[in-house]
Order: sequence, then C-alpha cells, then structure tokens
Amino acid sequence: MTEPTTNRVEMEKIVSLSRRRGFIFPSSEIYGGLSSCWDYGPLGVELKRNVKQAWWQAVVQQRGDIVGLDASILMNPKVWEASGHLEGFSDPLVECLNCQRRWRDDQLEGDKCPSCGGQLTGSRQFNLMFKTFMGPVEDEAGVVYLRPETAQGMFVNFQNVLDTTRKKLPFGIAQIGKAFRNEITTGNFIFRSREFEIMEVEFFVKPGTDEKWLDYWLEERLNWHMGLGIKRENLRLREHGKEELAHYARRCFDIDFLFPMGWSELEGIANRGDFDLIQHAKYSGKDLTYFDEEAKEHITPYVIEPALGVDRAVLAFLCDAYHEEPDKDETRVVLRLHPDLAPFKATVLPLSRREPLLKAAKDICSDLRRCWMVGYDDAQSIGRRYRRQDEIGTPFCITFDFQSLDDNQITIRERDSMNQIRVPIAELQQTLTAKLSGEDFFVLPEGGQVWKMEKEA
Ligand code: ATP
Repeated sequence: MTEPTTNRVEMEKIVSLSRRRGFIFPSSEIYGGLSSCWDYGPLGVELKRNVKQAWWQAVVQQRGDIVGLDASILMNPKVWEASGHLEGFSDPLVECLNCQRRWRDDQLEGDKCPSCGGQLTGSRQFNLMFKTFMGPVEDEAGVVYLRPETAQGMFVNFQNVLDTTRKKLPFGIAQIGKAFRNEITTGNFIFRSREFEIMEVEFFVKPGTDEKWLDYWLEERLNWHMGLGIKRENLRLREHGKEELAHYARRCFDIDFLFPMGWSELEGIANRGDFDLIQHAKYSGKDLTYFDEEAKEHITPYVIEPALGVDRAVLAFLCDAYHEEPDKDETRVVLRLHPDLAPFKATVLPLSRREPLLKAAKDICSDLRRCWMVGYDDAQSIGRRYRRQDEIGTPFCITFDFQSLDDNQITIRERDSMNQIRVPIAELQQTLTAKLSGEDFFVLPEGGQVWKMEKEA
C-alpha cells in the first residue's frame, strides 16, 4: 500500500472554521495582522488549555517519576553559549536577487527562487534566536535572548530539582511554555510560527539504558496521540539521518502527522546523551553529576527528550477531528474532538425562549458549570443550534423542553451519532460524567430511556 501524501481536509477549511467560530484569529488583525502570529479566541483557548492539561496529566500527574518546572523565558546569555545555540542554532538562508524573498536552503528543491524563478544568493547561516536588551541601555552587555526551547531551563535546574525532590534515576522534568524562533519561512497556519508554545520532558537515565528509554518514549508518545483520538494511519515515525541530527542529538525521531500540506513533524523525540549537562557543568563550573548509590560513583545522566509544540498539536487535533457528512440537502460539519479536548463538554439548550424554560435551562447550566466548561445557547432553531455545537466539537447537547417541566427529564444528544437519550435531571451530572469517560451512550441511568435513534451506535 502506498502512503497517502496529504490529508483529505484542506487547510482553508480549518482556518475558516477557526476564524468563524472563535478558535484562532490573526494577531493584531485590525492593524492588518503580524506575519505568523496568532491569537487564540474563546474556544481556541479552551482547546489549547485542554491539550496542555492532557499532556501534563499523562507526563506528570499520572506518573510520579516526572516533576514540573516553570523556568523564566529570559535566561543568563551564558546558557545559550553553553548549549551551543549561539553557535549552532541556525538555518541556511538564501535570498532571491530578483524579488528579495528569503528561503531556507535546506527546504528548497532546485536552485531557483520558488516564487519568481530568480537567481538565489549563496547560503549563509542565520541564527534563529530573537535578541533583545535587558535594562535601559541597548548595548552588547545588555543582550539577552528569548528562549527557543524550554529544555535549557530544565538542564540548568537539574541540581535544584535533584536536591529538593531527592529523585532517583530514571526521572524527568517537564515544562510547558512559550518559545520563540525567528524562522526564515513560516506558514501553514499555526504549524510554524515565530512565537509558539512547547511541551517538553527531559527524562534523565543511566548511560547505557538510553536506547531502551528512547524506544519506551516513542511508544508512550504515539499512544498519547492515539489515546486522544488521532488515527493511527495519520501518524508515522521517522528517524533522522546522520546529516539531519541537531548538534546535541545522538539519535532523533519525529512523530509525523499527515497534515493538509503533507507529512510533517508533529513531535520530536531525541536522545540528547549527556551533551547538555556536560556543557553546563563546563561553562558554569558547577557539579551537575548524579551520585549512583549502587555503583558508588558520580555519573552524568543521559537524557531522552520528547518535545511537542502545543500549537502543532492543536492543529493536528483539529485536522484529524474535522469531518463533513451529507445531511439531507446540506453538509454537516462535525469536529469529532476527544471529550477531554473539546472546549465545551456539553451545551444546554432550552427548546424555546419562553419562560419557565429559560430559567430551568440556565439553572441546569450553572449546576453543570461547577464541574465543566458548559455552553448555553437559546438563539435560533434547535436544529441550527445542534449544528453549531457539532461544528465546535461539543460532545453532548442537553435539551430542556416543555415536557421537562412535567417529567423532570431532559434529552442528551450525542454529537457523533446524533442519537438521543432522555434521563432524569437528578441523574444528569452522573450520566454526563460516565459518557465523558467513554461509557456506551445507550447505557441508561435509572428512569432513563432511548429517545431517538439516528444511527446504530
Ligand atoms: P522543524 O524541523 O519543523 O523546524 P524542529 O525539528 O526544529 O522543527 P524541534 O526543535 O524538535 O523542532 O521542536 C520540537 C517541537 O516544537 C516540534 O516537533 C514542533 O511541534 C514544535 N515547533 C518547533 N518549531 C516550531 C515553530 N516554529 N512553530 C510551531 N511549533 C514549532
């Protein structure tokens, strides 16, 4: 079987849905935007928070051998000297002599400008770190850099974490935070931007066990993506060739996702060896070793690093979840987001805008909001409101109708099948908890009934 080369969903559809429904807006839009910078709107911010929370739960909360950190973005510039970023964190830049556009030489096919076919300059290394100045004087002594990754914050705090947590190898440090790279070319929506968020683990292991742990993390990270709904056929592992390896890496794999523009890196998993700890020990003059109780000797641990861009993960989840289905004469757009990621877990809809339906629906909504992000919508026909929730990925719609006033029951509609059940209001919270954790939709609480069967479950 040959591998598909593009995802069936076009990027314009994702960009347009994101804009229309308030997931992602161009940054400073009223001023014409700023190249490759994006703002997360009311729904986007929830989706992004959920992605980060799912990651933190998997790598920190549910483990016990990884602890969190939140290091500052600005660091002593010596950090970047030691880490090799000042010297080597660069991409080869070429410029078109005709239209002056700039390109990454290693991403070009052929030796002409892809935009106008013009002659290109020779390539020179362009450092991707953003520079700024600390303090009121803009001179060399005040130069600081915006971090291009969060990893270094974890290496320079290695001894602090070790001393305060008394962790034994293998153990890890995890961090989520903003990173900045002055990329030569950006694009494909939030896939590559100059300001982005990254989630990284530095997992410290005994030298000699690093290959085993690399395999472990490859599997672990693939499973994380799939556990949150990404289809296996949209993921692949790709090992970096020797010439492609970053200056710190002994081995590196990409988890690629089949984005609309083709297979591209979603997450990188690298064996960084002891490169970083050795470098920081050398440049700082501090001891960054670990005392191995068994061998009774000081060792410098090796590091396995899974690094995932939050924005790239958001894009992959959106692309993978986007579905269009025929719906009578129209098309139903459904975001089949995993419930853990969906911005709203449920939305409450009064069937009509008349009292006392409105008040009853609002009361149910406030009740549920103590547990989850829950939407409320009373505008337009119920059919349109369902479609709106489908489009933003809300797993369940809860409808309060006239009959609810008499029987104290509400209907729950499942996004993916459009099936409906009717359950007592007193059972709603518990039922929703169970459905959100994956219980079969037709398992009913006491007093519940199947209400509408659109599709076989
Ligand atoms: P690329 O080859 O795409 O430039 P990279 O190999 O330099 O990426 P890493 O340094 O491995 O990327 O960064 C780890 C992760 O951070 C990437 O897998 C990606 O998810 C994310 N990432 C890196 N650069 C960007 C960017 N400019 N915009 C958004 N996310 C990014």
